[in-house]
Amino acid sequence: MKIAFHGAARTVTGSKHLITLKNGKKILLDCGMFQGMGHETDSLNRDFGFDPQEITYMVLSHAHIDHSGLIPRLVKLGYRGDIFCTPATRDLAEILLLDSAEIQRDDAKFTNKKMAREGLPFVEPLYSVDDAKLSIDRLKPTGYNTWTHIDKDIQLMFTDAGHIVGAASVHLRITENGKTEQISFSGDIGRYNDAILKSPEVFPQADYILIESTYGSTLHADAAPADAELLRHIRETCMEKRGKLIIPAFSVGRTQELLYALNNAQLAGKLPRVDIFVDSPLSTEATAVTKAHPEVFNSEVANILKKDDDPFDFPGLHYIKTVDESKALNFRQEPCVIISASGMAEAGRVKHHIANNIDNARNTILIVGYCEPQSLGGKLMRGAKEVSIYGTRFHVNAAVGVIRSMSAHGDYEDLSQWLACQHPKDVKKLFLVHGEYDVQQIFREWLIKKGFLDIEIPERHYETGLA
Ligand SMILES: [Zn+2]
Repeated sequence: MKIAFHGAARTVTGSKHLITLKNGKKILLDCGMFQGMGHETDSLNRDFGFDPQEITYMVLSHAHIDHSGLIPRLVKLGYRGDIFCTPATRDLAEILLLDSAEIQRDDAKFTNKKMAREGLPFVEPLYSVDDAKLSIDRLKPTGYNTWTHIDKDIQLMFTDAGHIVGAASVHLRITENGKTEQISFSGDIGRYNDAILKSPEVFPQADYILIESTYGSTLHADAAPADAELLRHIRETCMEKRGKLIIPAFSVGRTQELLYALNNAQLAGKLPRVDIFVDSPLSTEATAVTKAHPEVFNSEVANILKKDDDPFDFPGLHYIKTVDESKALNFRQEPCVIISASGMAEAGRVKHHIANNIDNARNTILIVGYCEPQSLGGKLMRGAKEVSIYGTRFHVNAAVGVIRSMSAHGDYEDLSQWLACQHPKDVKKLFLVHGEYDVQQIFREWLIKKGFLDIEIPERHYETGLA
């Protein structure tokens, strides 16, 4: 068999890995969208580098858009098979894919107004809301920790990856010419001391491993200071400067982590009296899905649930639903906290909030997650003095804060911990995916010291034989 890496190859978005068996059957691992890659992003998302009609099976590690976001395009372009994922991933993917289709429809409408003014050809969204609905019908919920025959020669098992609700590492046992080999794909690996989720699980010995390497050269600070930092930013921005604290946050995972931290602060009597808005219908829905899957919670959350029946809700928290309510926040003079998607500030309502508040020194934009260097969040993180939002230049007068320790991705010790159940010498090849190349090179050196013999960092569209 062969494997080709069509996304998240020396980059952290667009996760897409294609296994081709000798009998011609093809299994696609993830079908993620590229995000925050500047002018290149659109063309990267239009051309897969393979024919969707030739895919036999698809397996989805988790619902994040950089892993799932091109599934509707895959279906639009002719994929007709099942998409295996965990039950919680199915629930999250449903809301995320519909939202993604709506964002694209709205972005295309916005861009096309400009195109019409300039007499340029219109842009076509990557897929429609109907394509997203069709793809949701193909999602096939499959539980953790059980081998399932998806084909007579192919078995599939998920193990908990501890990254977001429903996230899994994917294990495939493929039999060719009477010989069975296991390919394990980490998906995104969470932290072993996550605030909300259980830790990533062990898995049987694999022959080939694809491991993410987002933080392959980083050790995170402990999670506790993140909570303190969050409260410090609320005090400084909202209480002292009387400004607005804008927090771009992924709807799934990071938003719930922020709400959980704020709820804990409230339980401890440490949360200042300030209105906190979650301005993203998707974040609201994702919080509901999270509450519906308590099986993923760690023991600390289980304990909190004994004294607080909703660890993601507290006095002063408001969920914004309509666009009008969201726009009304612009005219609000009082200090407040606005938690809104997307996490890299590349799309969604947070982009409008940033545009409306970036020129006022009273306000703070607080980055709490990974941002692609070319994304709006990434530019702000690097201290840009001026940014372009929807084609308009803005001076960055607002303060920009960064909390680095609030990560859904493991650092290199977490990644090593995920590999600790494996005998390095029995792994024929380790592929580093989902990371920036300079980070991956450092991570490779680290893994060589751990005893792994053959480690590759594939480029986009690189294909290699296994066995
Ligand atoms: Zn993820």
